[in-house]
This record gives sequence, structure tokens and C-alpha cells, in this order.
Amino acid sequence: MKESLDKDIIIKELGRSVFSSNFIFHQKINSTNTLAKELALKGEPHGTIILAEEQTAGRGRLNRKWLSQGHENLLFTILLRPPLSADNIFPLTIILAISAIDAINDMTGLNVLIKWPNDLYFKKKKLGGILTEFSLKAGVAEYVILGLGINVNWMPGEGDGLSYPATSLLAESGIRVSRNRLITGILKRFEVSYENVLSGKTDGLHLSWNKLSLVIGKDVEIISPDEVIKGRAIAIDHKGALLLKNALGEEIKILSGDVSLRF
Ligand code: ADP
Repeated sequence: MKESLDKDIIIKELGRSVFSSNFIFHQKINSTNTLAKELALKGEPHGTIILAEEQTAGRGRLNRKWLSQGHENLLFTILLRPPLSADNIFPLTIILAISAIDAINDMTGLNVLIKWPNDLYFKKKKLGGILTEFSLKAGVAEYVILGLGINVNWMPGEGDGLSYPATSLLAESGIRVSRNRLITGILKRFEVSYENVLSGKTDGLHLSWNKLSLVIGKDVEIISPDEVIKGRAIAIDHKGALLLKNALGEEIKILSGDVSLRF
């Protein structure tokens, strides 16, 4: 039987967690990130979660669209108010990716990887994406919103209008995953990693995000609005920047910003 998202079940499973204190659920909204931004500006607290069954205007980066079939996938946004400066915010995107990867592995056995900077891939297919948006006040984050979309029980097909091959947990594992359990597993893991980031304990996380990276060792192209940089991906540094070596053997540091990575 198809399972619906159930806010009460999720809150109960989360137990004592900052994420169970202001949990907002909508059947249908324009975009969980758009609502999160509005709520952030109205002063909603750190730890607010916005979860939806369906989005009518799901967004990716650079005004791209995030498509999702209602009632089958996971779409939610975390609103945070971390005491972090701009260059320490990007690791939050990666720890959300790691939290999702670990929760997925626990429930399906699949080994999902991070396509730097913000996508989840299984083999050569896109399984999910993270959209991070933030605002700064006096150099410190006023809010950070992390939106996560995962294809769970949807079978993306050719007519779906996606620019790259996409897949889902059901397509790859044959398992119909409980979305209520999946979001709980992700948020519980994220809460632990978030505390580690705030207290500067990032060595273990840094190892994980290199180990789970799809791009390390590969030749890539980094596409930004004004240039294309080619090189071999060497590592992802402590702040989440991608280190490349170009054809001249020079090391180049790429900040996540609004760049896209192609193989
Ligand atoms: P990119 O991966 O190109 O850097 P984004 O991370 O912003 O871009 O993701 C948006 C892109 O992801 C869209 O252009 C679309 O091709 C693709 N996409 C949208 N929805 C899905 C989905 N549910 N599953 C996989 N890919 C998707």
C-alpha cells in the first residue's frame, strides 16, 4: 500500500530534536525553499522544517526546475540560523548530502555518491539534489535554507523533461522506501553532523565527503557564467571547495557558488 507523508509519525520518530519543534507540512506548495525563505524573513526559528507532497514551482540552482511526481518523492527544506560566516556555510550542503546517503544506504543498501557541489548520484544517474540559499547580516548568516529533493518511489522516464538521466531509490533497489522513515533518518543524522560543524569537528566529515565524492580523480569541466575551467578533480577541501589540477599542473580552487560541473 502507498504510504502518505505523516507529520505526526515523523515528529514522534524524531523525538527530542530541534527539527521536531516547528515542523510544517503542506500537501501542495510552490516550493519548500520559497516558503522557507518567506518564513525566515518573518522570523521563524532555527530548526523549522517545511515538507511537502507536491511542488508547483520546484527550483534547482540558476533558475532551473526541480521536477517531482507528487506522493512518491521526498521534498523538504531545513531552515537554520547558524553562527557561521559565508565561507563556512557550504559544508552544511555536504553534510546534508552525507546524511541522506547514510540514511539511504541503511534502508536500501545502495551506495549513493555526491556529485560536487550539490547533487546525489547513483552510478551515472541523478537521484537527488540540494538547493542551498542564504542571507548574511554583518558577515554572519541570518538564515540558511537547505532544500533536499530525492526521487524515492517515482520511476523517472524519458518523457519527464529532465536534461540528464535520472533514477530513484525504487528503480535502483526494487524497494518501496518509507518516506516518513527516510526523512527521519536524514534529519537525525544531520542534527549530529550539524553540531560537529558548529564545534569545528569536521575532520571525520571531511574524510567522508571526499570518500563519497563521485568526481575525485575524474577529468571535469567547471562551467561558470563567464568561463569554463578544465582539470582533474583532486580533492574537496575543508570548506567544501573543489581542488582541480589543470593541464599545466597548476592547482585551482573552485568555490561552489553558481558553477556547474560536467564530466
Ligand atoms: P545541475 O545539476 O545542472 O547543476 P541543479 O542542481 O540546479 O542543476 O538541478 C536542476 C536540474 O536537475 C534540472 O535542470 C533538471 O535537468 C534536473 N532535474 C530536475 N528535477 C529532477 C529530478 N527529480 N531528478 C533528477 N534530475 C532532476
